[in-house]
Amino acid sequence: QHEQQWTAVDEYLDAALVGQDAALTAALEVSARQGLPEIAVTATQGKLLHLLALTVGARRILEVGSLGGYSAIWLARALPADGRLISLEISPAHAAVARANLHEAGLEKVAEVRTGRAADSLAELVDDGAEPFDLVFIDADKPSNPEYVAWALKLTRPGSLIIVDNVVRGGQVADAQSTDPSVLGVRRMHELIAAEPRMEATAVQTVGAKGYDGFTLIRVTG
Ligand code: SAM
Repeated sequence: QHEQQWTAVDEYLDAALVGQDAALTAALEVSARQGLPEIAVTATQGKLLHLLALTVGARRILEVGSLGGYSAIWLARALPADGRLISLEISPAHAAVARANLHEAGLEKVAEVRTGRAADSLAELVDDGAEPFDLVFIDADKPSNPEYVAWALKLTRPGSLIIVDNVVRGGQVADAQSTDPSVLGVRRMHELIAAEPRMEATAVQTVGAKGYDGFTLIRVTG
C-alpha cells in the first residue's frame, strides 16, 4: 500500500517537475527491450543527480555502474560542451546499450563507457594520472562500496561531491546483525567515511517508485 502511494507521488512529481523527455524515455524502452533489469534511478532521482552536477559546476563526472546509461544521460547533460563523463560497467551487454543510448541522446562526444571490473578501471584511471573528477556517482555492486569510495577519494579534489545510491536497502542498513553482503558493504563504507578526515557526509532516505532506499552524499574536504 505504501509502495502504491510512493509510486503515485513519483508519477505526480514527474509530471509536475520533470516532464516527458524523448531521449530518456527511449533509453528506458531500449534497456527493457534488451532485457536489462529495471534498476536505473527514477526520473526524480535522475534529475536530482543532474541538478547536483550543475550545482557543483561539474566538468568531469565519474560513474560506477552504467546499466543502460539512464543516469549517465542525466549527469552528462549537466556538463559543458568540453566536459567529460566516464562511466564504468562490467557487463559488455549493458555497456553496449549504454553507449547506444548516450549516442541517441547526442552525448557521445562528452560521455564514454568503459567495460570491465570497476575496480580495475578505477586503478587504471589512477595509474594514468586522470584529472580529478568533480562528481562521482557510485551505483554498482554494493559489497564493493568501501573500495569504490576509497578509489573515488583518490580521483577527486577538495570540493568534489561523491554520491552513493541504494544505501538504505529497505531499512536493512540499520540492522547491525545483518550478514547481507550489500548491507555490510554500505555499513563498512560508512565506517570508512566516518574515519576519514578528508570526507564530510550525510545520507538521505528516499521512497518512490523503486521502493524505500537512500543516497549517501559525501563532500571531499581535503
Ligand atoms: N546507474 C545506473 C542508472 O541509474 O541508470 C544503474 C546501475 S545498476 C544499479 C548497476 C550496474 O553495475 C549494472 O549494470 C551492473 O552490471 C554493474 N556492475 C556490477 N558489478 C560491477 C563491477 N564490479 N564493475 C562495474 N560494474 C558493475
